[in-house]
Amino acid sequence: VSDGLSDLIRARVRDVPGFPQEGVTFRDITPLLADGTAFSAVIGHLADVFSGAVDAVAGIEARGFLLAAPLASVLGCSLLTVRKAGKLPPPVLSADYQLEYGSASIEIPADALRPGARVAVLDDVLATGGTAAAACALLERAGATITGLGFLLELGELGGRDRLPGRELHTLVTY
Ligand code: AMP
Repeated sequence: VSDGLSDLIRARVRDVPGFPQEGVTFRDITPLLADGTAFSAVIGHLADVFSGAVDAVAGIEARGFLLAAPLASVLGCSLLTVRKAGKLPPPVLSADYQLEYGSASIEIPADALRPGARVAVLDDVLATGGTAAAACALLERAGATITGLGFLLELGELGGRDRLPGRELHTLVTY
């Protein structure tokens, strides 16, 4: 990532201390989405990273969709949505995973992928990595080969990388 692009992203991310709970600083990408030039540069960068290497782009609900959809469109490949449980009609494949407090569940359509399909997984923020790890495992159960993961922001101190050993990670800005 060029210094110019990472500076631009940093300038367009709003830090919100204490949201959604005490001790968390929420990284709000709303200002970045509102800047067409900056957002377009982000999608252009991700398109360069994954160009020629993927059959599908999978976005993690909800803000991952915002990156995955324009990226799939630019690459001319399939778009796949990794949904929170209960949103998709059957048949679905689902995976449960642990959150810091409690657990969560994600789902994809059971027939989403051809065996061996090369898939890039996209989300806005890599925090603990639990969601992305579960998404990769679920997509692999559906027959995917994960070529890499793309994140706008990585919260380094939460150790998300350690939950994704051996995976190719592309993060545009690290905090
Ligand atoms: P995790 O499974 O811990 O890596 O959490 C990843 C998901 O939670 C991503 O979909 C992010 O959108 C969201 N998330 C976690 N921490 C933050 C944060 N500090 N600011 C914004 N989004 C976050």
